[in-house]
Amino acid sequence: MADSITTEPGTVDGPTGAIGEPLIVLDHVDKHFGALHVLKDVNLTVHRGEVVVVIGPSGSGKSTLCRTINRLETIDSGTITVDGRPLPAEGRELARLRADVGMVFQSFNLFAHKTVLENVTLGQVKAKKVRPAEARDTAMELLERVGVANQASKLPAQLSGGQQQRVAIARALAMKPKALLFDEPTSALDPEMINEVLDVMVGLARDGMTMVVVTHEMGFARRAAHRVVFMDAGQVVEEAEPETFFTAPRSDRAKDFLSKIL
Ligand code: ADP
Ligand code: MG
Repeated sequence: MADSITTEPGTVDGPTGAIGEPLIVLDHVDKHFGALHVLKDVNLTVHRGEVVVVIGPSGSGKSTLCRTINRLETIDSGTITVDGRPLPAEGRELARLRADVGMVFQSFNLFAHKTVLENVTLGQVKAKKVRPAEARDTAMELLERVGVANQASKLPAQLSGGQQQRVAIARALAMKPKALLFDEPTSALDPEMINEVLDVMVGLARDGMTMVVVTHEMGFARRAAHRVVFMDAGQVVEEAEPETFFTAPRSDRAKDFLSKIL
């Protein structure tokens, strides 16, 4: 199997990349679904090169948070800026935002009737107007990087979940994003496939990709995250370095949550 990736698992601990200027800034963000207040005065700054793990109970607003950054959901009040610019409402600017801030979903969301290679070339050709031959070269390089180049001509359903998720990561990378959002990228995977996806993500983190990762994988947080953000009931309750958060959470809500997942 050509399932190799650039990082040896477990060889280096903790984030290695330097972090830079603010890239994604949420300022007093509120969001309701009808009567349900799902994001409550959320303030969050993600810096260039930073890896932020978002953790918290089901229903606490983690997915909604990711979706608002990518403008898959609108917000009621507050502001979100990416690279200094407010989120665009529509049109070409919105397409550019979606290219700048890629998203990887729990359920892969690959185009089922397109091959693996087409999945990774389509966005480049359609949204970024890259020439097909160039898009193909980029796609093959990225598929190589995530260890699934030998699956390029297959349909997604012919791949394992772990392979499909790695294709989804390659597809997001093909847009040359400034940041990547991951919403529970390993939750739908069989246990033996979780590490092959996390290893790719650790590799990206080491290469300096700005990442917001919703996950309960503490191993990943410890290996790659600069910061853990704990959410509960729509609020950012606590932020800390991974080791501090996992060993000495401050809030009762975080202690309670950790006692359930540890
Ligand atoms: P998490 O990802 O932390 O589990 P979500 O962001 O998915 O939480 O959901 C936060 C809350 O918003 C939950 O109570 C959920 O049921 C609700 N919710 C999420 N999406 C919608 C929607 N499209 N319409 C109505 N309620 C929603
Ligand atoms: Mg969720």
